[in-house]
Amino acid sequence: MTTIMEKSDTCIMNTYGRYPAVMVEGKGCILKDIEGREYLDFVAGIAVCGLGHCHPAVTEAVVAQAGKLVHVSNLYYTLPQTELAELLVANSFAGRVFFANSGAEANEGAIKLARKHGGPGRYEIISLEGSFHGRTLATVAATGQAKFHKGFEPLPEGFSHAPFGDLDALERMIGEKTCGILCEPLQGEGGVRPLPRNYLQGIRKLCDKYGLVLMFDEVQVGMGRTGTLFAYEQCGVEPDIMTLAKALGNGMPIGAMLAREEVAGAFAPGDHASTFGGNPVACAAALAVMKIMLAEGFLSSVEKKGQYLAGQLRGVAGKFPELASGVRGMGLIQGLVLTERGAAQGGDMVKRLLGKGVLANFAGGVALRFIPPLIVSEGEIDTMVRCLEEVFAGL
Ligand SMILES: *Cc1c(COP(=O)(O)O)cnc(C)c1O
Repeated sequence: MTTIMEKSDTCIMNTYGRYPAVMVEGKGCILKDIEGREYLDFVAGIAVCGLGHCHPAVTEAVVAQAGKLVHVSNLYYTLPQTELAELLVANSFAGRVFFANSGAEANEGAIKLARKHGGPGRYEIISLEGSFHGRTLATVAATGQAKFHKGFEPLPEGFSHAPFGDLDALERMIGEKTCGILCEPLQGEGGVRPLPRNYLQGIRKLCDKYGLVLMFDEVQVGMGRTGTLFAYEQCGVEPDIMTLAKALGNGMPIGAMLAREEVAGAFAPGDHASTFGGNPVACAAALAVMKIMLAEGFLSSVEKKGQYLAGQLRGVAGKFPELASGVRGMGLIQGLVLTERGAAQGGDMVKRLLGKGVLANFAGGVALRFIPPLIVSEGEIDTMVRCLEEVFAGL
């Protein structure tokens, strides 16, 4: 194991602080490392493997499509792409889809569409403090956390960040050049922070009042994570544009940008493109994912297990008030909010959990984030919680 880690650390660019584990296999909620150690996975590849590792239906779809046709570009039509787009449109507010390969790329597409729709001179996009929208230059500029900007200035123009939860401040920032507002219905990287329903509804009203497009970044919370296929379904408002990625392909790289028909109409041939976007293999995987998530009972089980997870975490917070102050989240994205003392040890908590064979992570410097595969069982939640209590008891 150490030789692999040493080799990797000499030839891979030094952009990740990695944990000392070389993962070789996965099934359901369990990962196995090269030494045969097993881990209970409450990270799921950062909310990606919604159906768990190596779900047989996804594997089968990938293998079948890879044996038939892997890539032709978007100069031609393909079956999996068409079928996936139809299914996304049929199950959302949107009229059209653009396929990309990642969350950042889907957001880039959303930013370009909002600007094109805004017309000449209307290019400014307001996002929120604490947000995360990706690592390309425009999505870094949209991200409302200074630590992601540092060292990469000058960033593209036309992005500003409104203080979280303050509708008056947001309205004051809207000007002649504003074309849209971009937000996550629940900030994932920012520390598992849901946007209150009335706040989202207020943002929708501002967009309507000033003729702005409302963009929801559902890269992390879309695809069943919150207990509905898309998080916006629980907010009482619809966006004009929505981006998806992480769980869409259960690990196959695919992103999507969805828009209302009228908004999508701002794009004409030549305005935007992606060589790999909507690749048949990635789309076949996403189709398999969607069919499972849309089957009777799947999403309601996410909601139910989410409540169970939140309840168990509240129990932990109750037992260790000096370390944890509360629980917040939706469905199976739950954050255990740490006290100041707890947060100072957040990184250490994650390492100690890893030592006990449980994967979790520390988000936004404020909360332990639990984003297991959506197929997690209550027994697996109990195991994780037992390990977490052992870790807390040892701090
Ligand atoms: C992960 C994430 C992104 C970036 O996705 P990539 O696939 O890493 O480019 C964008 N927005 C949100 C909300 C995310 O969680």
